[in-house]
Amino acid sequence: MSDFIENSGFAENIEEMKAFAQKNDIPIMFDDGIEFICNYIREHKIKRILEIGTAIAYSAIRFASIADDIYVTTIEIDIDRFIKAQLNIKKAGLENRITAINEDALFSQIEGEFDLIFIDAAKAQYMKFFEKYKANLAPGGVFISDNLSFHGMVENLSLTHNYSTKKLVKKIRKYIAFLKANTEFKTDFYQTGDGIAVSYRAEEGGQAQNAVTENIAEN
Ligand code: SAM
Repeated sequence: MSDFIENSGFAENIEEMKAFAQKNDIPIMFDDGIEFICNYIREHKIKRILEIGTAIAYSAIRFASIADDIYVTTIEIDIDRFIKAQLNIKKAGLENRITAINEDALFSQIEGEFDLIFIDAAKAQYMKFFEKYKANLAPGGVFISDNLSFHGMVENLSLTHNYSTKKLVKKIRKYIAFLKANTEFKTDFYQTGDGIAVSYRAEEGGQAQNAVTENIAEN
């Protein structure tokens, strides 16, 4: 955790948000997943972030807390989560640098370019989010997608017997196949957190951090 967070009382707020999410069954990023993205933001001096899937603004607050010149726009479809997110953002004193929008991200009209577009919303729609928002990706920017392991089920479908979960897992596999076959973007897959992918424009060359690149799913 950064010194900024440690010294400004954020540590307590962050623990509170995590406890709230757990108590209310709200999925937020795993600890190692969020650390991975925060490190990526630091190392690549990311300043403008678009997040698809705010929940209660846990990850948005973590990202914006890294440095005073980081700006986050984040979209959440669920009104109750959006209201809680607004409260958390205000409590963190970040309302000037985090813009929360209560919309279905499939239909939002977002202006401007972003250095990082973080896809962390409805898993079945990842391909649509990717295609829709690539127009907002700044030169040299990256997409980061979360939950590509989906609690190990992407690698091992027999971990669930639930029909709709199986369907969802198959959609995530399709998204992984889409990323692997994409000629416009190259993707590095990481087994950290719940499975993270970093996608950058192919002509801009590899710029993912020096972690070992691993395929998290074979289809
Ligand atoms: N990024 C958050 C964090 O780590 O703190 C967690 C986000 S949670 C995994 C996914 C969120 O995406 C849910 O709160 C859900 O309501 C929202 N969501 C799902 N579909 C969406 C859509 N089409 N547009 C906007 N938000 C959506």
